[in-house]
Amino acid sequence: MRVDVVTIFPEYLEPLNVSLVGKARARGQLDVRVHDLRRWTHDRHHTVDDTPYGGGPGMVMKPEPWGEALDDIIASGAPAAPGEPPARYEGIDRRVIEEYGEHLDVYEVSIGDYVLAGGEAAVLVITEAVARLLPGVLGNAESHRDDSFAPGAMADLLEGPVYTKPPEWRGRGIPEVLLSGHHGKIARWRRDEAFRRTARNRPDLIERCDPAALDKHDRAL
Ligand code: SAM
Repeated sequence: MRVDVVTIFPEYLEPLNVSLVGKARARGQLDVRVHDLRRWTHDRHHTVDDTPYGGGPGMVMKPEPWGEALDDIIASGAPAAPGEPPARYEGIDRRVIEEYGEHLDVYEVSIGDYVLAGGEAAVLVITEAVARLLPGVLGNAESHRDDSFAPGAMADLLEGPVYTKPPEWRGRGIPEVLLSGHHGKIARWRRDEAFRRTARNRPDLIERCDPAALDKHDRAL
């Protein structure tokens, strides 16, 4: 998979060199290319922004450098489905999204209902969340089978609590069932705990949960 990131803060993307994403890149499973938008400016100050038409606070990113950057990157063989190029300031001049939306699938992706200073942190989040799903990136292919939101009967549930050794820590033990060796009982316990944790932390997800799918999951135990 190839990811091209256009930014005026290339150094912000350095975490993509470490941990899981860094290893996936080193193994050639993920091709991340970070581009400095200012490369496509032509004035002495490398200007990428200007004041908004209609007035108001903040600055808007100019369409020309973005257009030149995207033309070059697309010509170099980038995937033909760019997200909205995340920006600093108030955003990018809307005509850039309209222009590329005519020929390509352009998605505007929000990572949550809060306002970041710029799109770079969102790019880190999206790249890591996607990269770990690529075949071979996680050491154990089964690893994301039980994750929160993993497809299947529990797709709308968060994963429940997890424990490791020692069996007792500061007077706290672990649930007996996990020592039982009974796979069916353990799976049922995990499902119940997932349900409880989701109800507590994300009640909105419980409403989406399909009771028939959970019944089917239980019958399969
Ligand atoms: N004035 C804009 C608004 O109210 O929607 C916020 C602009 S924000 C300061 C600058 C840029 O950060 C946005 O254009 C977007 O690219 C990025 N950004 C901010 N919050 C984001 C989020 N939750 N998810 C993804 N990108 C975000």
